[in-house]
Parts: sequence; structure tokens; C-alpha cells
Amino acid sequence: MKGYGVISIGNPGWLEKPKPVAGELDAIVRPTLVAPCSSDTHFMHGGSGDKNNVILGHEAIGVVVEVGKLVTKFKAGDKVVVPCTTPDWFGEGVQDGRYNSHDNAPLGSFKFLSAKDGVFAEYFHVNMADANLVKLPDNVKPEAALMTVDMMSTGFHGVELAEVGFGHKVVVVGIGPVGLMAVAGAALRGAGQLIAIGTRPNCVKIAKEYGATDIVNYKDGDIVKQVKDIAGGSVDKVIIAGGNAETLRDAMLMVKAGGVIASVNYYDISETFSIPTWAWGLGMANIDVRGGFCPGGGLRISRLLALLAHGRIDTTKLITHRFNGFDAIEEAFLLMDKKPADLIKQVKDIAGGSVDKVIIAGGNAETLRDAMLMVKAGGVIASVNYYDISETFSIPTWAWGLGMANIDVRGGFCPGGGLRISRLLALLAHGRIDTTKLITHRFNGFDAIEEAFLLMDKKPADLIKPVVFID
Ligand code: NDP
Ligand code: ZN
Repeated sequence: MKGYGVISIGNPGWLEKPKPVAGELDAIVRPTLVAPCSSDTHFMHGGSGDKNNVILGHEAIGVVVEVGKLVTKFKAGDKVVVPCTTPDWFGEGVQDGRYNSHDNAPLGSFKFLSAKDGVFAEYFHVNMADANLVKLPDNVKPEAALMTVDMMSTGFHGVELAEVGFGHKVVVVGIGPVGLMAVAGAALRGAGQLIAIGTRPNCVKIAKEYGATDIVNYKDGDIVKQVKDIAGGSVDKVIIAGGNAETLRDAMLMVKAGGVIASVNYYDISETFSIPTWAWGLGMANIDVRGGFCPGGGLRISRLLALLAHGRIDTTKLITHRFNGFDAIEEAFLLMDKKPADLIKQVKDIAGGSVDKVIIAGGNAETLRDAMLMVKAGGVIASVNYYDISETFSIPTWAWGLGMANIDVRGGFCPGGGLRISRLLALLAHGRIDTTKLITHRFNGFDAIEEAFLLMDKKPADLIKPVVFID
């Protein structure tokens, strides 16, 4: 069969490959509508390493031509929407529950391109069809549905990670198709002021239609100052869907203590995040940093389709160019690669050793990078460390899964109040913990405060915690 893909890095073209075969749980689909994505062009240029003889494409609507004998929900002839990430639902990363994008490895649920041929083919393979396909609803236009499989799922993931709520001040950095979907999703989740950052005139217009209240042009200078001037200070949430490693530092300077930064951007492997510790409140400002990858699966896409079916969002605004016929895949792909200013999205007709959690309660700015190298995709790093103001976090983008491994980074400061302490005391009262093990040195009398303090300052090796009994 014929397919359009990467002959060798930098050299796209038509390939001849055998028709894929369905396993017992799988389906073979004939595409009727596909769209190229910036990740396809990135892959073609070697962004995922030295690849050759691979069919491109991961956004498709199609017709089922064949199903494996254990598939029960689909049959030949069904019109289906195909998520761009199709998890192995047996994978540990999925069973763990938080994110389905990392089934057996970071970003492992992205099968097209990385584990097998993509959808720019006469036929393509879908693993675990019952869980990964969804029927095209009668009342949703195929081209509108096509936008759910990657652009909407990713943009909305940014909104979910940011936990946008009623009246929040939200910034969306980048208003390509992913950022535009983040703007629309943030508006649906009740954002108050919604500041979008980008320049392309047609994207700016659509961002406003989707609910952006203000636009910032990053070419006009410092986006932190521009955002703070418009918002009258810091914002609750920053969603990153464009920009580069510096954007993450800028986001920290815009977001308030207790706020969230949610990134769905794909950072270049050559870059390094360089963030002064003070920008992250010396580790203690409770600014959560999350970065994720497009979730997939039939249930998620059916929920996104429900938003379309009930008129909550018109995704067809993203589509600027339409092509017809299988052979036009080439023209559409090459246009995407060139990215003219008016292009948003085009359509054509046809852990072995890693741990779950790292808690940092010591160390220095390097410790945060080390924690990223220990934690698995979907894991959490929680820091209660006090970083020195003179230090800078220097983290290569790859350590954070190029921004997409759903490794959450949280850093907080001791919570207080009577209720909290009464709950901690309840743990002591009911024998759940003996905190006195921490006390290594005991002093008596008010004047002994001096001796205890000076001992704390010297920190002898046997010291954990000194206490002074005044009364
Ligand atoms: P586009 O290239 O279409 O859009 C990028 C946006 O970022 C544009 O609005 C652009 O502005 C803006 N931008 C560029 N440079 C800067 C800068 N220095 N500061 C601020 N804004 C800037 O990309 P897509 O919408 O297709 O994708 C967005 C990102 O999401 C990409 O990194 C893509 O690879 C990634 N992605 C991630 C997925 C995931 O699962 N996590 C899935 C799909 C995509 P302008 O208006 O001037 O062009
Ligand atoms: Zn994509």
C-alpha cells in the first residue's frame, strides 16, 4: 500500500509498505480525513532522532475495514474518530490512573510515528480498538471532530493541568491551534480575565472569538511586564502552548504564590531551563509546575465530541486550508512544513528504575534536576526545601520530558493555623507517630535559649533538633 512519510531525515515522500495486520484486539482503518501537525514536520526534520521509511500522520477520521476477533464495539464500515494517542490500556502508567499518555514509557501512548506507521496511508493500524476508537457522532461534522484528536485534547489538557476555575486570571502563551484550544477551554471553565500571547493576525482574531479578553504581542518586549500591566499584578494560571525554555521562567514571574503553570509545549532538546531560585519563591511559593502530553482514548475523545455536538465550541475556526484527494496529502504536509502566516491547521479529504514521587527536603538547586531524573512520567516532585537566593535551577529540557512527561513540580511553604495543628496533634494522641525521636538535645531554663541557638548554628553531626524547657 501507499503512504506519505519520511524516506530519510529532511526528505519526505511517498513510500510503499505492506498493509498492516490487526491483532485480536486491534482494528485496521482506512482514513477519510486527515490533518498534518507541527509534530509531523518536527519528526521529518529529525526532532525525534534519525528515522527513515516511516509513514507520517497522527490525526485522522476513517472507516473501519477490519477488526480483530476480540473487538466487540466496532465492525467493518463504522465511521470512527481516532485519538492521536492510543494507550496500551494494560500498561502500568495507565493503570496508575493519573494520566493515560505514558502507558509503558514516557509519551509511550503515542504509537503513530514512534512505534509504527502513521495515518497518511491507505490503511493504518489502531491498537486496542474497543478502548481507543470512538464512533463519529451523526451531528458532528467530520472536520470539526478531527480537531479533537490532538489540538483540542492537548489544549484542553493544558486547561485541566492549570485547574482553571471561575473568575481566575489566566494567561495562555502561544495561540497556534493548541493555544487557541487552550483559550477556548479556559473560557469554558470560567476564566475571568484571559490574556493570550501571540502575533499572527488571524490567530489573534480567533483568540478573541474564543474568549481572550486581552492580547499581548511577545515581539513588543518583555511579556512579564506586559501581562502584569494588563492584569494589574500577578495571575492565577499560566498555560504554555508556544515559546521556548525562557517562557517557563517568564511564566514564574507572572504567576502568583499558590498559582499553577501548565505547559503543553514541546521544548527543543537542545535547550536548558534556567530559572533563578527567587523566581520560584526560593522553592516555597507553592507555585506548581506541570507539563503534559496529549491524553487519548475513546472516552476522552467522546467527551470532547460532546462539547461539539452540543454547540459549546466550534473547532472548525482552526481550519484555514482544505485539500481534496489522497494524493493532496503531500501538498498539505509541505504547506504545514513551510507554515505561512495565515496557516493554523489544514485538513484534507480521504520505568524500570524510576520512582513515583520525590520529596525534596534538603540539597540545592541541582537536587531539583536530579529529582527529575529519578521520577517517572506522571510522577510528582514535591519540594519543601529553602533554596539559596544566589542559586539558579538549570534543567535541560530533556530531563523534564521536553515538557510533556506529566512530571508535576510543586514547592511549598509550611501551612499553619489551629485546625491543621490540631490534626497533627491527633496523630500523636492516637500513637501514630513519635515525634520525640527528633529531639537530640534538651536544655532547661529561659537563659539556655542562647546555648541551644548557638548549637543549632554549629550543627554538630549528632544534632537533629534541640529544645529548651523554659518552665
Ligand atoms: P504553533 O507553532 O502553531 O503556535 C505557537 C504559538 O506560540 C504561536 O502563537 C506563536 O506566536 C507563539 N510563540 C512563538 N514564539 C514565542 C515566544 N518566544 N514567546 C511567546 N509566544 C511565542 O504551534 P501549535 O499550536 O501547533 O503547538 C504548540 C506547541 O504544542 C508546540 O510546541 C507543539 O509541538 C506542542 N504540541 C504538544 C502536544 C502535547 O501533547 N504536549 C501535542 C501537540 C502539539 P505567533 O502568533 O507569532 O506565531
Ligand atoms: Zn500532533
